[in-house]
Amino acid sequence: MPTTLPRATIRTQVTIPLRLADGYATTARAFTFDGLVDGREHLALGFGSSARSPMRHDTGRPTLVRLHSECLTGDVLGSERCDCGPQLREAVGRLDRAGGYLLYLRQEGRGIGLYAKIDAYALQDAGLDTYEANLALGYPADGRDYTVAAQMLRALGEERVRLLSNNPDKAAQLERLGLTVCERVPTGVHRSPTNARYLAAKAHRGAHLLDLDLGHRPA
Ligand SMILES: [Zn+2]
Repeated sequence: MPTTLPRATIRTQVTIPLRLADGYATTARAFTFDGLVDGREHLALGFGSSARSPMRHDTGRPTLVRLHSECLTGDVLGSERCDCGPQLREAVGRLDRAGGYLLYLRQEGRGIGLYAKIDAYALQDAGLDTYEANLALGYPADGRDYTVAAQMLRALGEERVRLLSNNPDKAAQLERLGLTVCERVPTGVHRSPTNARYLAAKAHRGAHLLDLDLGHRPA
């Protein structure tokens, strides 16, 4: 029985020309919302056909969607303690080619916040893995909640999506919230010497479907 999803509406939409750190340039349509249940300022970015004609209700292929949880250290600073920066870069490129939405969700550090994430890094330096560190600090191993993502997709008119993700929990949460995930499209594995332990923890503890022998697949 799907959870009843409170309705959100589009508040403002604007076009933003993007130039990423590696010089990749494109244009996205940015959407803000009213009515998101956690009151935070989450952003949707539409690429390709989703930028040109948002709110279309055609019967074509379900729209490709990536749910990206904010990671200031990885997204902005290029931290190599995690794979968020390369994941974000891959998603923008693939969405730009295929058309679709990137939902930029303000749940830093799997929902525990920036300072707590840095606290968890300190514990990881003492030997705990990323999930153990969260638990040691009194937080859930993964506190991310995708209710707002489901609200945003519904406000954008996207009830049926293809989800760009290696994380089955994202698809399961969206399905519980009443959306249809027609397909889960795997992302690349962005491994480096400094994030190898983090990725191994994601694969073994977080049930992410990562094939760590594959290395990075070009997007
Ligand atoms: Zn990160």
